[in-house]
Amino acid sequence: MFEKILIANRGEIALRVIRAAREMGIKTVAVHSTADADAMHVRMADESVCIGPPSSSESYLSIPSIIAACEVTGAQAIHPGYGFLSENANFVQIVEDHGLTFIGPSAEHIRIMGDKITAKDTMKALGVPCVPGSEGGVANLKEAQALCAEIGFPVIVKATAGGGGRGMKVAQSAAELEKAFLTARSEAKAAFGNDEVYIEKYLTTPRHIEIQVFGDGKGGAVHLGERDCSLQRRHQKVLEEAPGPCITAEERARIGKICADACANIQYRGAGTIEFLYEKGEFFFIEMNTRLQVEHPVTEAIFGVDLVQEQIRVAEGMPMSFTQDDLIINGHAIEVRINAEKLPDFAPRPGRITQFHAPGGLGVRMDSALYDGYKIPPYYDSLIAKLIVHGKDRHSALRRLARALGELIVDGVDTTVPLFHALLQEDDIQSGNYNIHWLEHWLETNLRD
Ligand code: ADP
Repeated sequence: MFEKILIANRGEIALRVIRAAREMGIKTVAVHSTADADAMHVRMADESVCIGPPSSSESYLSIPSIIAACEVTGAQAIHPGYGFLSENANFVQIVEDHGLTFIGPSAEHIRIMGDKITAKDTMKALGVPCVPGSEGGVANLKEAQALCAEIGFPVIVKATAGGGGRGMKVAQSAAELEKAFLTARSEAKAAFGNDEVYIEKYLTTPRHIEIQVFGDGKGGAVHLGERDCSLQRRHQKVLEEAPGPCITAEERARIGKICADACANIQYRGAGTIEFLYEKGEFFFIEMNTRLQVEHPVTEAIFGVDLVQEQIRVAEGMPMSFTQDDLIINGHAIEVRINAEKLPDFAPRPGRITQFHAPGGLGVRMDSALYDGYKIPPYYDSLIAKLIVHGKDRHSALRRLARALGELIVDGVDTTVPLFHALLQEDDIQSGNYNIHWLEHWLETNLRD
């Protein structure tokens, strides 16, 4: 059993990991930049180490500083949270070379899934259904034109090294292809230093449905159903729910088994998410995330499991604490991502919190690193809180969300809370009738000044 682990992250996810470790009797080490000296994760951990100046590249992304912090404190393992170094195969390799344990998948799996073409080829070979498109990268415009003539428009040109919604361009017709192809390539080069792109059929009204998987690293794997993350702004998730309002038990069992079998086959270790677009009853793989996701609490709520504790268990070589048969869905959960941003343009609004009150009561979970007087630094992500509600069905979860949002007080900065109050008034949200474009359309008609 680990005695001490280091959390290479900040904010709500660092707290999430500290809480899981403490319940397991494991001591925790927080790392922080100089801008985060007063942060909640530093206060809550057993020990803390300052690893550099505010800029992420010199602190939370500084591999030598993080390894040194482990050596100084005697931490035996590192939990990366999400973002930062969580999907950096090189980091995992260095951690292991120093005799430390990475709480997450192997460097090889992170590398495979980090390259979207290799990921798609791997999944296809494992029997996972994929979006129709190019076989691998598309080298030039001529090749792109030939392929699109075959699969038909609209298409989406995507960066092999892509992430965070960048390096993606849609072409509605042959006339738009040249521009989409060249822009995607130059954006990919600028963002990722790699201009390789591939092409997929662009699905016009899909939902974003992702399957939570979990492997023991020895060939055992399960799925924990799906999350519907279709409410997106600029390809970024805003609200997530589980189970998906449009997914039947048969569909869940079928796609879940395909995903669990794929993970078992490659001996995947730890938590992972296989993302799909879902349209007219069909699933199309888009990518796999080899880490804990921001929205993991909705899955924890409906299955009554602790995914972080499970990650720590399998990193130690212990078996998973559940089998597929143990995983039975109970009720419905919804998460909203609360950002320090000003509507309608979602401009980041860091600043001092003058008053903070978290909602509570049955079925309410608030994952946040805020406190009264806390000054949100301007250097990092604007996510300040995740509010997760759980109810016996979707209707009660929605009612509970409205009630909990009403109790929440965050004064001193602008937040995205008014967006959720407004969304809850919409019939489409109440009935679960939305796809990946719904929110963008709604924002255009409702939040225009
Ligand atoms: P990233 O890694 O940058 O997040 P993804 O491949 O996960 O990129 O895609 C992000 C989002 O872009 C999806 O959730 C969906 O909204 C949209 N998208 C991606 N591929 C397609 C496609 N083939 N058709 C329609 N929309 C797509």
